[in-house]
Amino acid sequence: MQLTITKADRLQAKPDVSNPLAFGTIFTDHMFNMDYHPDKGWHNPRIEPYAPIQMDPATMVLHYGQAVFEGLKAYRTGSGAVQLFRPRDNYKRLNRSSHLLCIPEIDEAFGVEALKELLRLEKDWVPGTPGTSLYIRPTIIATDPFLGVRASHTYRFFVILSPVGAYYSAGFNPVKIWVTRNHVRAVRGGVGEAKTPGNYAASLFAADVAHKKGYTQVLWLDGVEQKYIEEVGAMNIFFVIDGEIITPALNGSILPGITRNSVLALSKSWGLKTAERQISIDEVMAAHASGKLQEIFGSGTAAVISPVGELKYGEQIISIGDGTVGPIANKLYKAMTDMQYGKAPDTMGWIEGIE
Ligand SMILES: *Cc1c(COP(=O)(O)O)cnc(C)c1O
Repeated sequence: MQLTITKADRLQAKPDVSNPLAFGTIFTDHMFNMDYHPDKGWHNPRIEPYAPIQMDPATMVLHYGQAVFEGLKAYRTGSGAVQLFRPRDNYKRLNRSSHLLCIPEIDEAFGVEALKELLRLEKDWVPGTPGTSLYIRPTIIATDPFLGVRASHTYRFFVILSPVGAYYSAGFNPVKIWVTRNHVRAVRGGVGEAKTPGNYAASLFAADVAHKKGYTQVLWLDGVEQKYIEEVGAMNIFFVIDGEIITPALNGSILPGITRNSVLALSKSWGLKTAERQISIDEVMAAHASGKLQEIFGSGTAAVISPVGELKYGEQIISIGDGTVGPIANKLYKAMTDMQYGKAPDTMGWIEGIE
């Protein structure tokens, strides 16, 4: 497939990204687009000026939510180079999400190459101050103008880029999480393991309840018994109990995070004990009562590692650790961000340059 490039006539001024509140509000000059038609497959890959998408009000994605997306980042190293962290894993996961949503898969290798081409054009948009990055949002939407529940026949794949400030501009601050027994994020057999917009729409109500109670994130329990832990907000979750790093096993309703996978791989490479298994909220509360609960942290591309300082379950409120970031969360955060920003060698084969 031949990628065409149409450059914008005028370029915008680059923003000041020292303000972390800018997340997701500023977009670069160009975007990648590609279309799907049953007769042509994925075709017409092109880099074009960033522009609104005009669509028929009956466009299927607007009514039935048939869409998938990804989230990854490009980082600027000390020497000025731009690099990606495990981009092929994001494109692989995009295809797995597409499969669950009856969306035709894309050629992963071509997708990564097209992304690199877009990044080469937009490389001045990758900020260079500590902790900043260029957030990358690949998305596929159903584009048939049709009312009626079925899979769309046509699709648009696009990639947009957004420079983002440092997630922890004021230092690591542990978050407070609320365990909900009244809402669930996903159930096995559903689409919880797909990055699909409906999952996020479905999480808003519980997040709102958590915020009103003074908590930053929702801790999701399983959708059947509300007993086993699944995720925290839109992140995977880890518990350090008696020196062991435990995360819920992927069961079909948990999003298979690339950061989650990286946490497990790095921990194992350091000789730490890890487990992917069912872990109940009762086990966590009991571990805390016996003094064995050492750390809780979330993992995801945006924050990398998000330490949890307080957890509320029913009427019980527990504090985790001493209010500062635990040693394992700290070590993982440093190891991953050092690799992403080129401050440490890539010992895992996770980094890809854009040239
Ligand atoms: C994206 C996402 C994650 C984290 O995935 P990463 O690949 O680590 O960024 C975890 N849970 C949910 C629900 C997500 O959407």
